[in-house]
Amino acid sequence: MRAEALSHTGLVRPGNEDCFISDVDRGLFAVADGMGGHQAGEVASHLALRALQERLFDGTAGEPLSRLLAAAEFANQTVYRCSLASKERAGMGTTMTAVWIVGSKGFLVHIGDSRAYLLRGGQLQVLTNDHSYVGELVRSGGLTTEEARVHPQRNILTRALGTDGTAAIDSREIEMKRGDRLLLCTDGLYEVIPDQELANIMNRHRELAEAARELLRLALERGGPDNVTVVLALYE
Ligand code: MG
Repeated sequence: MRAEALSHTGLVRPGNEDCFISDVDRGLFAVADGMGGHQAGEVASHLALRALQERLFDGTAGEPLSRLLAAAEFANQTVYRCSLASKERAGMGTTMTAVWIVGSKGFLVHIGDSRAYLLRGGQLQVLTNDHSYVGELVRSGGLTTEEARVHPQRNILTRALGTDGTAAIDSREIEMKRGDRLLLCTDGLYEVIPDQELANIMNRHRELAEAARELLRLALERGGPDNVTVVLALYE
């Protein structure tokens, strides 16, 4: 595997509450977009990803997908317990989208509105469902993806990590093919760059570092209204 990751505060927000993992040696890639006042969002996203990584590689045996899910649930517990411990952190939470590559398989866990995409044979497909108010509307046919992208209520999440003692975390397994490229990103990217354009940029820039830089550059050129995080990984 090869990977390239970038995270930027953007041009409007005072701080960066996004966080990522790009662990090529162990095949773990993840993004998280925290929420909560007083920098609690930053605490939530960092805490979640650290807990995920530590629990996943603590030596416990088991099938990869159940191990990844257990690690995601542990991350939920960790953020939730921390949120109960201080007033400033009450109600904090985070999105989390993680892919763990083991052999020829990719194992994915996801909650919230960050996304994982797969570029295969030039075609970009979304691997995750947005757990957001507009995401639910798109799935029920009430809104197009383009309408959702610019909807005033697009930031309302229907699921998040760490806001409750239990979390409804999606999971799936993907058969990887040589040359596949994974894009994990927070909403700060796809809110300003539609899917077709994401695909065009990834197809135009075969070099991961170049593609990541170009995605970030364009997000900032379009106002950088939110924190932007991009993790690109190539399966070789
Ligand atoms: Mg965001």
